[in-house]
Amino acid sequence: MKISPLFIRRATPFLLALGTVGQTPSFAADPIEGFKNTPIIPGTPYHLHDPDRPQPPVVNPSTPFSQATSAPSDATILFDGTNLDRWQARNGGPATWKVTDGYVETAPRGGAIRTKGKWEDFQLHVEWASPSPGKGRGQGRGNSGILINGMYEVQVLDSYQSKTYADGQAASIYGQAPPLVNASRAPGEWQTYDIIFESPRWDETGKQLKKAVITVLHNGVVVHHRYELSGATDGISREVPWRTLSKYTPHDPDVFVGLQDHGNPVRYRNIWIRPIGQYDK
Ligand code: MG
Repeated sequence: MKISPLFIRRATPFLLALGTVGQTPSFAADPIEGFKNTPIIPGTPYHLHDPDRPQPPVVNPSTPFSQATSAPSDATILFDGTNLDRWQARNGGPATWKVTDGYVETAPRGGAIRTKGKWEDFQLHVEWASPSPGKGRGQGRGNSGILINGMYEVQVLDSYQSKTYADGQAASIYGQAPPLVNASRAPGEWQTYDIIFESPRWDETGKQLKKAVITVLHNGVVVHHRYELSGATDGISREVPWRTLSKYTPHDPDVFVGLQDHGNPVRYRNIWIRPIGQYDK
């Protein structure tokens, strides 16, 4: 029996809903996983995690840009390849990820780790590498993430010649905005995120004065430019369950930085952060 691509596209959400997330449907050549039964993302014609949202154009990032460079003098070195002293588990206990040969790798069922420190508006440098050879597909291929305040995720994923719903690929603001382009490097190659994050602000009555704003360079290529987040990412905090629209919960402007454990062995190295500061101060 010949199965049409349209059938596969339509059937995929139901297969995923049946608990086959991350597995390869045996009959499918290469359908893009995703959902058509999720809410429409306001301001777009697309469903949340829509398989039909356009795939970002592929760009070869060329030179290493900021990779393996030393940090500016006013930066806090979050990870220099030797220890996790500046990190903790989500519950405040010790971070259990394994440090080897200058990098740290997500531990199976080790849970997310987060910085002990907090910052308001910041510049963050992170280097990461997905497993080589690449394993799994879609959201199950080298999934991790930069979790700001445990609320806002810049997706880490192997999106090199590997497709998933566009709002969930590497360097997406998960569930909100695909990257402007796909500047991914191959599995096992070190990749960089340079992230400039402005915290959201509320007044004392709880009225929002400013949304979170983010700029991201992936391997030196601008993939978000002052993107205004619509709220917390779905699926990483209790307030916004997976596949529901993002929304804000007021919080202090000081935020921590986390790294997601999504069950895939992703490596990190050379992580530093510095406050952006203000003019004339
Ligand atoms: Mg992730």
